[in-house]
Amino acid sequence: MEFELLKEEADILDNLFIVSQVEIEKTEDGELDITVQHAEGEKCQRCWKYDIRTGENEKYPDTCPRCAKVLEKNYPDLQE
Ligand SMILES: [Zn+2]
Repeated sequence: MEFELLKEEADILDNLFIVSQVEIEKTEDGELDITVQHAEGEKCQRCWKYDIRTGENEKYPDTCPRCAKVLEKNYPDLQE
């Protein structure tokens, strides 16, 4: 039950924990286990989070997809 709930909310847990990425996995014995590792991907120059999709947006190559979306929405005339 708790596992399913965490799994559903995985996309907001990174903000809650103030980290770049959160993965929810089940251990073989069902016990709670927490591992901290360096995040994968490149660092976004706007929010400083690491994301494997940083650089995918051609217009904002230094940002993660989330920031690129915000920049495109709020600064449509801004060019790199
Ligand atoms: Zn970002």
